[in-house]
This record gives sequence, C-alpha cells and structure tokens, in this order.
Amino acid sequence: MAITIRKAARLEKLPPYLFAEIDKKKREVAARGVDIISLGIGDPDLPTAPHIIKALQEAATRPANHRYPDYEGLFSFRKAATDWYKSRFNVTLDPDKEAVSLIGSKEGIAHLPLAFVNPGDVVLVPDPGYPVYNIGTIFSDGEPYFMPLRKENGFLPDLKAIPEAVAQRAALMWIGYPNNPTSAVAPKEFFAEAIRFAEKHDIILCHDNAYSEVYYEGKKTPSFLEVDGAKEVGIEFHSLSKTYNMTGWRIGFAVGNAALIDGLGKIKTNVDSGVFQAVQEAGIAALTGDQGVVDEMRQICQRRRDILVRGVNAIGLACTPPLATFYVWAEVPKGYTSASFTSKILDDTGVVVTPGSGFGASGEGYIRFSLTVDTERLREAVARLQTLRL
Ligand SMILES: *Cc1c(COP(=O)(O)O)cnc(C)c1O
Repeated sequence: MAITIRKAARLEKLPPYLFAEIDKKKREVAARGVDIISLGIGDPDLPTAPHIIKALQEAATRPANHRYPDYEGLFSFRKAATDWYKSRFNVTLDPDKEAVSLIGSKEGIAHLPLAFVNPGDVVLVPDPGYPVYNIGTIFSDGEPYFMPLRKENGFLPDLKAIPEAVAQRAALMWIGYPNNPTSAVAPKEFFAEAIRFAEKHDIILCHDNAYSEVYYEGKKTPSFLEVDGAKEVGIEFHSLSKTYNMTGWRIGFAVGNAALIDGLGKIKTNVDSGVFQAVQEAGIAALTGDQGVVDEMRQICQRRRDILVRGVNAIGLACTPPLATFYVWAEVPKGYTSASFTSKILDDTGVVVTPGSGFGASGEGYIRFSLTVDTERLREAVARLQTLRL
C-alpha cells in the first residue's frame, strides 16, 4: 500500500524554478527545427588542460587514493591552494587551520550556514545573486534579507540602506565579486566597508571568489582576504571550476578564518567525507602547473566578450562591457520584462539567454548572456540578434 509522502516545509520554501518556462519554450522552438544557440548556462565549453587530466589518470591507479579521503582534504592540496593564494594575492594562510577542500565551492556555500545560522537568524543575500546563497539560508532555517544590487551603485549592495534592526539579527552576509550575474567587480574599498560593517554588527562575512581568474585587459581582481581585518570576520570560497575549466570535476576550497573553516569542516565530516583524492591530485597539478592555460582561457573569453558586447550594443541594449566573468548583463528594452524579452529572443532567433529575474526580484529588467560558445557560434548569435525588431 502506498504511503503519503509529504515534503518537508523547507522544500516548499524553495523559490519557484523560473527557468521552467524557458526550458519549455526551448523545446518548442527546437521542435520547429530551429538550431538553438544556448548563451544561457554558466558552464565553460573549453576542455580541461591535458596535464591536469594526466595527473588524474596517474592518481586514479594508486590504491591509496581508492579509500575514503579526509574530509578536510589532502594536506598537499590545501598547501597547493594556500601557496597559490600567496603567489596570486600575497595572502598568507595556514594550510592546516585556514583551508578546507570542497566538492566544488557550491557545496561549501550550501553547507556553511548549517554551521553558523540558527532558525530565525537573518542572512544578508545579494539580489540578483547566485541562487545557492538563498537556498543555503532556507535549508538552515535562516531568514534571507535581500540586498538589491543596483546599476547606480556599481552593482554593489548599499550597506547603509540595511535597517539597523535587520543588521542586529543578521548572522551572516554573502558577497561575491567578480559577480555572477551582473559581472561587476568590487574595489578593495568596498571590501573594507563590508568588513567594518561585519565588525560593527558581529556578522560573518562570506566572499565568493569563483571568478577571480576570469578577468580582462590584464586587470587582476583582488581577493577579499587582501584587505585588513578580513580574516578576523570572514571566509573566501574559491573554485577550480571556472579557472581551469573543471566544473565537472567538483573541486574547490574555502580559506580564511580558522573558526569558520573548522565549523564548515564539522558539517562536511558528518555529511560528505571529502573529495576523491585523485581529483585533489589533479587539482594540485592545476594550481601548481603551467598557468599559461589560464591566460589562454582569458584571451578566448575576452575575444568572445568583444564580439558579444558589440552585438548587444548594435541592437541598442545598454550594457557595461565586463572586466571579469564570462557574463554580459544587459538591460531589456522598454516595453519588455526580463521574461518577455528572453521569450522574444528565443522565439525570433533561437538564442537562449537567462532572464535576470531568475536571479532575484532586483534582476528584473535585465538579461544575462554567457560567453560559453565558440566565436563562430557567437557571431552567428549576434547576426541573429541583429534581425530582432524591437
Ligand atoms: C560557478 C559558481 C560557483 C561554484 O562553482 P563550483 O563548480 O561549485 O565550484 C560559485 N559561485 C558562483 C557565483 C558561480 O557562478
């Protein structure tokens, strides 16, 4: 006899899947025989470099790697990560106490609130933002407070606009620059302001730095840990996914405050037991090997950016050419919403973009293009966009 299966309330609290409508439309358009070009997803199309794959192949043959890993990661992986932080950002970290490996940074972002957020605590969440900040809050029975990211503030949250009563109840704040979806970068002054805010209100500051290596025009973006006081209040999430085209491998790490790393580690040791060691060895090869592959990735993305930005401007959409990330965040024309414009583009051209409203209410009025197809397909997408009648 079938039982009644009731979903937990936290599943009911998840935001509606706003891409369901797009997915449906995409299938309809594809069924008409239209060749779909997807600029919707944030997943690099480029392959992982051969020396990284070779490191995995060799590591996979060693029986020591077939056993349970330590949840915190191989010391050699954490050392490679903290050495990389030293050489890239001049940030000194203790690989033993101030670093933990992650099964992709998404895993750490989702798990961290379980260690530090109590039911009813406020979590400050950027809007628009990477959906996992909000979802991790909901799963820990916290209460999200959305900080709008507006064009007039350079897509940085206005910390002075957060009501005192909210700040007092806040346990944790998420920020992430270079930003997904707006592609904005943050100056160090903003990180300093966020650190002062965290100190004043006793708030844990979490910085998501997944796109630090996807920068353009040689303009390197900082780590939040470069700023005085950061390690006293916060933690930074990093990922090999976007830097080394390794999204499928599931490897990242968190660095920063030792008590925060310890709390996150406590959750991990009870939930997931860590990253396959052969993948960690491949991660070491990525972090310590030839960084020319990262330069190459940047050059490819920058060429794509230039093609797409020119196309977006040619059809009259306002957008700031990104200085980092593989996204272009463009304003929808008058008379459209994010959803209706996304729909029109798909219907009329077969190009898939992401509606800004899918990243939160303040993303309304924008669409996001991803630079994750080759230049030939991107030129084709631009040519089709130019046929749009607005
Ligand atoms: C891609 C992405 C991540 C994490 O990716 P992982 O593959 O889980 O490391 C984290 N934050 C943002 C904003 C991203 O876009």
